[in-house]
Amino acid sequence: MTNSKFRTALALCALLSGAAAQAQTDFASCLSNLRAPAKAAGVREDSFARFTQGLTPDMGILDKMNNQPEFKMPIWDYLAALVDDERVAEGQAKLALHKDTLDKVAAQYGVDAATVVAVWGVESNFGQTFGKYPLTQALGTLSCFGNRQNYFRGEFFATLRILQAGHITPERLVGSWAGAFGHTQFMPTTFERLAQDFDGDGRRDLMDSVPDALASTAHFLNKAGWNPAQVWGLEVKLPAGTDLAGESRKNKRAMSEWMARGLTRPDGSALPHSAGQAGLMTPAGVKGPAFLVFRNFDAIYSYNAAESYGLAIAHLSDRLRGAGPFATPWPTDDAGLSRAERRDIQSLLSQRGHDMGVIDGVLGDKSRVAIKAEQTRLGHEANGRAGQKLLRALR
Ligand code: CA
Repeated sequence: MTNSKFRTALALCALLSGAAAQAQTDFASCLSNLRAPAKAAGVREDSFARFTQGLTPDMGILDKMNNQPEFKMPIWDYLAALVDDERVAEGQAKLALHKDTLDKVAAQYGVDAATVVAVWGVESNFGQTFGKYPLTQALGTLSCFGNRQNYFRGEFFATLRILQAGHITPERLVGSWAGAFGHTQFMPTTFERLAQDFDGDGRRDLMDSVPDALASTAHFLNKAGWNPAQVWGLEVKLPAGTDLAGESRKNKRAMSEWMARGLTRPDGSALPHSAGQAGLMTPAGVKGPAFLVFRNFDAIYSYNAAESYGLAIAHLSDRLRGAGPFATPWPTDDAGLSRAERRDIQSLLSQRGHDMGVIDGVLGDKSRVAIKAEQTRLGHEANGRAGQKLLRALR
């Protein structure tokens, strides 16, 4: 390194550490301003001091706030990874393993086992992916920086109350950058409203008690209006020339009206008669799979407000009940990859000399760099997205 480059690097370091020091100072001052409102919200002074002692901000979280995958990825990629054969097999094993608990949960909250296990599978991969962010740090940061501070302060104070009540230990309380945690990925205020102590040990523990987590999920859906007598919805076939203008999940119509408009089951047979009203959801437009969704879909949607997310859970629940993939394929000539196929593509890229890090089926930044390089070499569009085409070409 030349002297001038060295000086530039030093200056950059000083600038960065200066920025970090400034963030720490701002954070400390913000936290001290939060003591009084926290106390008013039921966080004792000694609790606040104990759970915020040594807390530092995690500024990297702010970059994540506007980059949620559900909204950017093509829906066929999103669903291919969330509802793959692996997750169906694992979900069916969980249904068998926790049958007694799930039966009791269904009896008490009126939500069937397949739906509860599907939420569990999508939220935390059946308790295997909790997120890695310490909750007090993540929510403390978002309470003091960024443009949703008021919202996150409510969640931060709820976190401190949960710790104060001793439901979960501070070391154990990790989750997503946005503060969702545990098997069911509840936000702290959702926890306070709806988490259940189903194993009867006096603590509502969504980190380490599967019965508490499954019951809490069912309780959530129950309070969101789940109707045990109804399905979430069903895949349908649209007659040629269907006008989708104005149709949506929210625009619900009687089934008789949909029948009159010529909608059928995918195989062309008549739709089932149902007392409920359904909205027409076409996540990839008129050429992709179409769904009539009842109010139960809205209950799932309220868990995490994204239709693709709701569809992943709804579809996984059907797959757990033995149904197959959607009858109508997604309107793409380059379908998405399952997690097994993503691991496969990572191995193939690694064999070609790319630095892939861990082969985990999660296509992160390293994967995207390697994918772009191979796409360029193959003469494909270098967009960093891996689908069936790239997998076939690399094989
Ligand atoms: Ca418990």
